[in-house]
Amino acid sequence: MSARILDGTAVAGQIRSELTSRAAAFTRRAGRQPGLSIVLVGDKPDSQIYVNSKLKSAGDEGMRAALSHLPASTSLDEILSLIDKLNADPTTDGILVQAPLPDSLGVSAMQKVFDAIDPSKDVDGVTPENVGRLVQNRADLIACTPAGIIELLQRSGVEFAGKHAVVIGRSDIVGKPVSMLLLHRHATVTVCHSRTRDLAGIAATGDILVAAIGRPGFVRAAFVRPGATVIDVGINLVTDAGIAREIFHEGHPRRGLFERKGSVLVGDVHPDVAEVAGAVTPVPGGVGPLTIAMLMANTIKAAELRLAAGR
Ligand code: NAP
Repeated sequence: MSARILDGTAVAGQIRSELTSRAAAFTRRAGRQPGLSIVLVGDKPDSQIYVNSKLKSAGDEGMRAALSHLPASTSLDEILSLIDKLNADPTTDGILVQAPLPDSLGVSAMQKVFDAIDPSKDVDGVTPENVGRLVQNRADLIACTPAGIIELLQRSGVEFAGKHAVVIGRSDIVGKPVSMLLLHRHATVTVCHSRTRDLAGIAATGDILVAAIGRPGFVRAAFVRPGATVIDVGINLVTDAGIAREIFHEGHPRRGLFERKGSVLVGDVHPDVAEVAGAVTPVPGGVGPLTIAMLMANTIKAAELRLAAGR
């Protein structure tokens, strides 16, 4: 049996077409477009790719997106002053600081920058206020990847109530918030991490299995309950031929891609899982497109809420 593919690109397309009309309605009412400000520090190539696709998506949906691209040598104080400026700018509805910041800024820099963002403009759901509201199940702005996972599951007809959801990974940006969202939808949630004993055994009791680990092909068929819904959050660029060949068998189209390009994007879930699971998300084309769609959704929501509050 081969699993149903949960097509994130198609679901993201539906969401984005709904957002285009909301953005147009906002623009008519407010006399300006919803505004997203993205802050990028340094020249990490993959961060630049992510930022460019966010800028393009905002333009496509009828929003104004502006990029502040600062050199890697920028100090933390300079970044915080820029955040203050964006907080005070009435045409900026959403602020996104692309992670990670350069290592030279220190381990706590990202948290200090997140702490400085006005929660009403926190379209990435990273401020302590919005994380607290998420825990209390009254958040307006929720981290984009977890929100996208829930949209994808809901729009694919997956039920949550009474189901056992196993989340592998406990990061602030994916594992913890998606666990909360599943709990609020009445799933029974188990969160696993690097110290979990018998991870495969626990994972194999999940009706829903979310893998947010950052290790290519980590989740094997033995981790999966037959018929389970498997969400693969991982985005891992594999350049090692041994790993690529171990994950993709001879004749697999993605192995062919690796042989041609010398690299291939691989999720945290091994392709063999599709023989056991009931439904799986592909990588690419699964959770990734939802993350961008939810950033746009959050920007429009922030703009609408700010307009309603007279800001
Ligand atoms: P992260 O902050 O590095 O967290 C990884 C989590 O996985 C940690 O909780 C870690 O456990 C756990 N882990 C690592 N090795 C493990 C092991 N051997 N066994 C069990 N648990 C293990 O990563 P993240 O930011 O959540 O991202 C995870 C993946 O999702 C990455 O590939 C990232 O690129 C991808 N991602 C994709 C999107 C998207 O839009 N699709 C968005 C965000 C992230 P400990 O806490 O014990 O260390």
